[in-house]
This record gives sequence, structure tokens and C-alpha cells, in this order.
Amino acid sequence: MDVLTAGAALIVVQLCVALVMAGIFYAAPTETCTRFWALSGVSFAIGVLMVVLNAGAPRPLILIVGNSTLILGLVLQWCGIRAFFQKTQARTGWVLWLLFVMLFILLVVRDSGIGARALLSAVFVLVMLLVTLVEMWTGPGSRTTFARKLTVGSLLLLVISYSGRVVATVVNTSELLPSSSNTLAVVLIYFVPIAGTLLFCNGLLLLYFERVIADKHHLATHDELTGLLNRRALVAGGERELRLAQRMHTPITVALADIDLFKQINDTLGHEAGDRAIIEVARLLKDACRSVDLIGRYGGEEFCLVFPGTDEAVARTVAERLVQTVAAHRFSIDRNISISIGLASMGAAEVGQDWAQLVRRADKALYAAKQAGRNRHEVSA
Ligand code: GH3
Ligand code: MG
Ligand code: MG
Repeated sequence: MDVLTAGAALIVVQLCVALVMAGIFYAAPTETCTRFWALSGVSFAIGVLMVVLNAGAPRPLILIVGNSTLILGLVLQWCGIRAFFQKTQARTGWVLWLLFVMLFILLVVRDSGIGARALLSAVFVLVMLLVTLVEMWTGPGSRTTFARKLTVGSLLLLVISYSGRVVATVVNTSELLPSSSNTLAVVLIYFVPIAGTLLFCNGLLLLYFERVIADKHHLATHDELTGLLNRRALVAGGERELRLAQRMHTPITVALADIDLFKQINDTLGHEAGDRAIIEVARLLKDACRSVDLIGRYGGEEFCLVFPGTDEAVARTVAERLVQTVAAHRFSIDRNISISIGLASMGAAEVGQDWAQLVRRADKALYAAKQAGRNRHEVSA
């Protein structure tokens, strides 16, 4: 592969990626990461085009603009990753870019030769790749998804390729320059970056796709107001835990919790204050439960909790703690709020009950708690 073909291939790859990213951006304009990635592809392609076209007879202005645009592409890519992880934009990339532009102009003005310029560009590409790699590695969310591994892996490939290029440029300044037709130079300067860029950009797309799927799943299984499980997901999880308890012969308890005299809060303070109270009660319940417990919003101001491995005696203690926690909390709406809880347990030796029966028993116990004066728990017979 000669320099022109390889350069053209790298440009085509970048432009295709830019087009796809621009398409996603127009479909979902609130996602600023895809706008950064589209601009990055265009910027990188322009940079490569100028560097390749300039190889024969270097013109200072094209040299400066071409190389600066190339590094700008990497800065924009990094900005896109920060936007994707919902981090505020930082100055690091832009400071590095300005530093590069100034140093590059200095080299051109001093007529330092192609070796020094190529070395400076390779070093800054390497630095930006490392900054991007750190951003990708330290970003929130699981590091073990396929897209995350692909992006990190392809970045490592690019880092290795550019490290080799930096070393090669230092050792042998004429054979491994962007303008050289030496096979190793073409592979190192064009072939590996083409493969790495292609994999990395597809990795970014997959990363985006993974998040869309995760968001969709979260929306389908969680309650919008409180962030707890919604009724459907809670029931599915509860039925699963019940089957597991029956198979493993372990106890399980289902609890229904309802805010006391909630209508009064809505009527006197308004629906919005009522919503805030529901959110705070949800957070208190969630904080007071173990990570293995399931907790969901079952209806308006009613919550359902599933305690796997918990018998009636332990469940009583837990329920009392929940009741006390809510009663002791100072709510933002400046009103004391209490809850009542109904419990239904299935012992380790019992196997015959189904989910509907357990919930019905918990509901009866809740009714008994309301009848007995509220701000308390009751256990089903
Ligand atoms: P009790 O102690 O017997 O439970 O009395 P209560 O007033 O809480 O009675 P009930 O549980 O029947 O009242 C539920 C009220 O909750 C009625 C409804 O207007 C209100 N509600 C249901 N969903 C929401 C919601 O999402 N937001 C707000 N603010 N209110 C809701
Ligand atoms: Mg109520
Ligand atoms: Mg209710």
C-alpha cells in the first residue's frame, strides 16, 4: 500500500464515521457526544488530507493547519467521551492543543525539518490517545462490557502503534516519516491507525448503543418518580425469589408499606409536596434495606418489599426499624409522616404458597395495621 492509498483509506474511514455520528446526532440532538465525534472525524480527515497532500513540497501554512486539525480531531474525540460520560468539559485537551500549535509553528518558523515536526505530531497524538485512554478507563459504568473492552483495546493498539512511531522517528528520522513509502512506515503510520480508528469508532457506536439499551431497560423496570422498581419488575423479581426460596427451603417475607393519611398531605400542601414526600419515603426505605432485598413502588403511595432469607421474627424487627426511621425523619415538606406495614412470611418448611397469596396476606396485615392506629406494623395470621 502506498502513502496516497493508505492516506485516502484513513480519510474515507474518518468521513464515514463522521457521517454516521452526524446521523445519530440529528436523530437525537440532545446527545452532544455524537456531535463531538462527528466533528472529530471531519477534523481528523481534513488533517490527514492536508498532511498527505503536503508531502511533496511542504508549504508552511498547510503544514501548520493540517497538523493542528489532526490533533484537534483527537481533542474533539476526547470531548465527546467526556460528554458521553456526562462529565463537565475540562480544559486539558484544549491546553494541550494550543501548546502543540505553538510548538509546531515554532518548528516551521525555525525550519527545523520534517523529522522534528513528525516527532512533535506523533508525541502529541500519543499524549491525546493516552488522555483518551485514561478517560475511557476511569469513566463510570462497567468496564467489562464488549464495547468498553473494544474501545480500550483499540486505543491500546493505537497507543502501541504511535509509541513505535515515536521511537522509530527518534532512531531513524528519514525512513519512518508520513511521506516515506517504506513498508514498515506505511503499516505503522497508516495501516494500524486505520484498523485502530475503525475499531475505536465502532466501539464508540457500540458504547452508545449499549447505553440506549440499558436506559430502555431501566425505563421499563423502574418507577419514574422514585427510581425504585416498578410494579411489574417487583412482581417478576418477587416471584423469582419465592420460587428460589421454595427450592432452597429458605424463608421469605413480603411487606406492603403505605403512607398514613397521605390524602391530607396532598389536600393541604398540594400534589407536588405529596410527590416529594413519596420520593423521600422511597429513599428512606431503600437506604434501610439490604442490597439483596427488592423494593418497588406498588401503587400511588404504597411500596412492596421482598426480604429473601428472612423469617417472620427477623421481618418484624426490620419492619419496626422502617416504621421508626420514617417517623423520626424530618421531611423537607416540614410535616411529620408515618407509614404502616403489613407482613406476610413463608417459613423454610412451607412450600405451598404462591406470590398472589403472600401479597393478599400482606395486604390484610396492612389493613389491620391501619385499623390498629397506623404508624406500626402487623403480621398476617
Ligand atoms: P391511609 O392512612 O388509610 O392510607 O390514608 P390515605 O390518605 O393515605 O389513604 P389512601 O392510601 O387511600 O390515599 C392515597 C392517596 O395518594 C390518594 C391519591 O390522591 C394519592 N396519590 C396516589 N398517587 C400519588 C402520586 O403519585 N403523587 C401524589 N402526590 N399523590 C398520590
Ligand atoms: Mg395511605
Ligand atoms: Mg394507599
